[in-house]
Amino acid sequence: MAYDDQNIFAKILRGEIPAIKVYEDEKTLAFMDIMPQAEGHTLVIPKSPAVTLLDLDPEDAAYTIQIVQKVAKAIETALERKGIVLMQLSGEEAGQTVPHIHFHLIPSSVHQLGKHASQMGDQAKIVALAEKIKAAL
Ligand code: AMP
Repeated sequence: MAYDDQNIFAKILRGEIPAIKVYEDEKTLAFMDIMPQAEGHTLVIPKSPAVTLLDLDPEDAAYTIQIVQKVAKAIETALERKGIVLMQLSGEEAGQTVPHIHFHLIPSSVHQLGKHASQMGDQAKIVALAEKIKAAL
C-alpha cells in the first residue's frame, strides 16, 4: 500500500500536530494513545514511512522492537503492574485506522481491553501517566 504522508502520525512526526511524547530517538517515537484502551496505553512508531509491518524495512523492524521492549519495561515500572498487551494491526482488514505502522503497548489483560480507538481519554490523566513513564525510562 502506498504511504500517505498526510496521515496523522506523519504529521506528529513532522511536528505539525501535538502528541504526548514519552520517548524519541533518531529512528523511533513513543507517545500516548489519545483514545486509550487502558490507562497507560502507549504507541511506538518507527520514523520510516511504512503502512504495515509487512512494508517495514526489516532493520527498522528489528530496531523498533527493541524500543517497544524498553518502553514496555518503563510502563510496567511506572504503573507498578504486570502484564502488557502488545498489539499491532496491519491493514484496514485487521482494523488498522492510522496508516503508519505502530505498536500498541496496553497495560491490561486481553480479557479487559477497552474498545479500540473509540473514546477520548482524560488529557490531564494521560499527561500524568506519560510523566511517570518518562521518569521510568
Ligand atoms: P490502529 O487502529 O491500530 O491504526 O490504531 C490507531 C491508534 O491511534 C488508536 O488507538 C487511536 O486511539 C490512536 N490515535 C489516533 N489519533 C491519535 C493522535 N492524534 N494521537 C495519539 N493517538 C492517536
